[in-house]
Amino acid sequence: MQFDKPIAIIDAQTTVFWFRRDLRLEDNRGLHHALKENGNVLGVFIFDTVILNDLKDRSDGRVTFIYESLKILKAKLEEAGSTLVVLIGEPKIIFSGLTPAAVYCNADYEPYALERDQHIHNLMASKGISFCSFKDHVIFEKDEVTKDDGKPYTIFTPYSRKWKSKLTQADLQPEPSEKLLKNFKKVVPFDLPSLEDIGFVPTALELPPRVISTAVIERYSETRDYPALRGTTRLGIHLRFGTISIRKLTALAGKTNQVWLNELIWREFYQMILFQFPYVVKGAFKPAYDRIEWRNNQNDFTAWMSGMTGYPMVDAGMRELNATGFMHNRARMVVASFLTKHLLIDWRWGEAYFAEKLLDFELASNNGGWQWAAGCGCDAAPYFRVFNPALQAEKFDPKFEYIKKWIHEFGTSAYPKPIVDHVFARDRVLKIYKQALEIN
Ligand code: FAD
Repeated sequence: MQFDKPIAIIDAQTTVFWFRRDLRLEDNRGLHHALKENGNVLGVFIFDTVILNDLKDRSDGRVTFIYESLKILKAKLEEAGSTLVVLIGEPKIIFSGLTPAAVYCNADYEPYALERDQHIHNLMASKGISFCSFKDHVIFEKDEVTKDDGKPYTIFTPYSRKWKSKLTQADLQPEPSEKLLKNFKKVVPFDLPSLEDIGFVPTALELPPRVISTAVIERYSETRDYPALRGTTRLGIHLRFGTISIRKLTALAGKTNQVWLNELIWREFYQMILFQFPYVVKGAFKPAYDRIEWRNNQNDFTAWMSGMTGYPMVDAGMRELNATGFMHNRARMVVASFLTKHLLIDWRWGEAYFAEKLLDFELASNNGGWQWAAGCGCDAAPYFRVFNPALQAEKFDPKFEYIKKWIHEFGTSAYPKPIVDHVFARDRVLKIYKQALEIN
């Protein structure tokens, strides 16, 4: 098989550093430990077929992003006399054939990853090999920020207050992994498998550059709500795949803009919720909301997906998503509210569509955002907040700049009439939600 040779060099003298959502050499905690504690480290990345097989689009932008990030990693490792071993397959099977000196990685808190890592941890332990996992993806993980009685927070504001009160300089200290590259194993480089070997083709989407715009962060509080402006950082995909360190961004946020810092804390809040309440992947955070009788009309769903609902703020958002793999947060809130409340379509349908399309897709934040919009998630506000898409447009896109950018036929007879009346839809959803919640 084509990848026998790289596997053969992972011998009992070699420590594996397994890259996953931490595709960088600098300020990488698990990598720093691997290099500090061992002298013969080999970087490994696995294109996990369990994940890849579920992707519908063979030109998926996230796969291209990973691929391009691996090329950068590999080139840097080759400058240091080593290489990056890139494998394709199911990690549990791949590791069952390996007997390295040790395995190091950074923790991943998604349910699939937790199960996979536990399995590999046990597998390695059965061979007397240590599997060392470190916190790197977040500042505070799992149960580090809890109420005084040790229970997890379920509301953001008190969580964020506690999060900030716990933060010390030590939490933001960079991990100087990039200074220990000499401890990578010296090997003759291997070829990277091609995207086609993995079953994909390059995306046509523009991928957000690895650039932190301090100017955007400085102005964030004033600009972040206006989708026509370039008022947010577009760093979501870099946080998702760890091409930028969260410690670096949090330190910058602390110095530059507390509102932006709050957004990074939202990300950790949802990571914590997913870890503490893994049932949210399948059902409502507040289980009573699983009784809602969704209409789930397929035609309405198709109109929503293709940006043809006749509500310009909704349609602009969906068209932005379909064209770029990104949607502004204000539009995400409006389209998600519209799907669940106006159209009474199950939030999981919208969640799945976003998961397919968003370049910055992150299970925890996407699930949290959808449950928040549907009113069944971690939110202090009651379910009867129903965004009025027309008012949202008036407030956040007063000159129709965002709307006109994405809806070229806006204002002409070619643009569809609203597929549902706002007042009618509002009354209907309030009735349906009330009915579901009144059942004991
Ligand atoms: P900025 O506004 O510059 O913020 C910086 C970073 O903070 C983001 O990249 C992200 O990592 C984090 N962040 C910002 N806002 C939030 C938030 N509300 N919740 C959690 N993290 C946040 N974010 C994702 O990263 N992945 C998703 O799959 C995702 N799905 C969403 C679905 C819905 C229905 C909603 C309402 C929101 C979703 N968000 C998601 C949150 C938010 O919309 C995006 O993080 C943000 O729009 C990304 O733009 P940016 O990178 O310019 O972020």
